[in-house]
Amino acid sequence: MATIASRLHQVRARIAQACAAAGRPVQSVTLLAVSKTCAAPRLREAFDAGQRAFGENYVQEALDKMAQLADLRADIEWHLIGPLQSNKTRVVAGQFDWVHSVDRLKLAERLSAQRPAHLAPLQVCLQVNISGEASKSGVAPADVPALARAVAALPGLRLRGLMAIPEPAADFEAQRMPHRALRDLLSALQTELQSVPLDTLSIGMSDDLEAAVAEGATLVRIGTAIFGARPAVG
Ligand SMILES: *Cc1c(COP(=O)(O)O)cnc(C)c1O
Repeated sequence: MATIASRLHQVRARIAQACAAAGRPVQSVTLLAVSKTCAAPRLREAFDAGQRAFGENYVQEALDKMAQLADLRADIEWHLIGPLQSNKTRVVAGQFDWVHSVDRLKLAERLSAQRPAHLAPLQVCLQVNISGEASKSGVAPADVPALARAVAALPGLRLRGLMAIPEPAADFEAQRMPHRALRDLLSALQTELQSVPLDTLSIGMSDDLEAAVAEGATLVRIGTAIFGARPAVG
């Protein structure tokens, strides 16, 4: 089985190739290693291979790994990418650097109020339900501007951009469509909120990385292609 270092190398090569195809500089895309269900030693292996940004879905699981990797804390950026419940906002505001899954004002207000004063503002993206799936979390596209205005005004947060988890699509062109829709939403926000540096388009997973980069992804969230298949849930 391939090592984490060699898989990371392959993913970086895919990003470089997708950037070249899109005429974008390779530094314009950040690689977030999605490490849900992976034990801490595997994250350490990725760290040793140069990876610094890690994405986690479950708060308690992330806290356990943070404790096991406490010696690396100053060099790791921890991103929460999974659904967030109100009763977890305090610990998230205290421990994470980024939250990609803000989809309602109440959550944002709590995170802002609970962000410790000695830390830099929490970096946040609004999660958008771009494919309009009834079961998915995320703010509806039509409600993004109002939520963005309100979140941008909160002192403990720094609004960075938009995140989405599109419905899986079979081919490259079909994969591009929801990514393009999210990019258009971000462009509209950039025009409206000129004083807020909105620089983050968080799209692209193991199966649609190339389509996301083609449509302007600035942060791709890659799990399986780095750490291998996850155990089935349930
Ligand atoms: C699990 C997950 C990913 C990574 O998915 P892969 O297909 O394993 O690359 C990215 N984003 C979110 C929100 C996830 O939950």
